[in-house]
Amino acid sequence: GGFVFALEKRGYVKAGPWTPEAAAEHPEAGADIVGVNCHFDPMTCVKTVAMMKAGVEKAGLKAHYMTQPLAYHTPDCCCQGFIDLPEFPFALEPRILTRWEMQHYAREAYKAGIRYIGGCCGFEPYHIRAVAEELATERGILPEASQKHGVWGSGLEMHTKPWVRARARRDYWERLKPASGRPLCPSMSTPDSWGVTKGHTELMQQKEATTAEQLRPLFRKADGKH
Ligand SMILES: [Zn+2]
Repeated sequence: GGFVFALEKRGYVKAGPWTPEAAAEHPEAGADIVGVNCHFDPMTCVKTVAMMKAGVEKAGLKAHYMTQPLAYHTPDCCCQGFIDLPEFPFALEPRILTRWEMQHYAREAYKAGIRYIGGCCGFEPYHIRAVAEELATERGILPEASQKHGVWGSGLEMHTKPWVRARARRDYWERLKPASGRPLCPSMSTPDSWGVTKGHTELMQQKEATTAEQLRPLFRKADGKH
């Protein structure tokens, strides 16, 4: 069996103890695998699991550690993560991590002692390949899909344009700050914060389709917020 906690970004289980204590003191403490899934970006999840690991070890317990973060940058998220972002769920593309950022994530997760390093919403096959490639030495194997390209852009060595050939190296991609190409867009959003949580009537699921009449007040409420 598994147990799922809803974590707020600042590291507290909702209305509960701080993450390190939660990992060790919850009645279900002693789980074989401890980690986090979804809702926040890779580095937020790595930091959270590092805190959980510290809590588990402080309690004298042992566990394996895992992360399955989003493939989206979420520096502007608060309590509920990316669900509160105005771009959720159909306009999140500008936030997607590059393959190089995924390699960074894999390395940091590994350094934090995490050995189940995966991904949740937004991950594409090339992201998982990047994770596997970053840890190829540790795993002693390259993923099969590495046959399709050269690592760290080495395939560009054969590019016709010399300035593109100049990008056939690791440090170029590691240092790059990719532009968004969207001059009228902000770099961060203001997350929705309706204060609606478990038990609230607006959160109740109904069996029938939502009617136009039921949606109207929600649209009005949303428009009043932006
Ligand atoms: Zn997810």
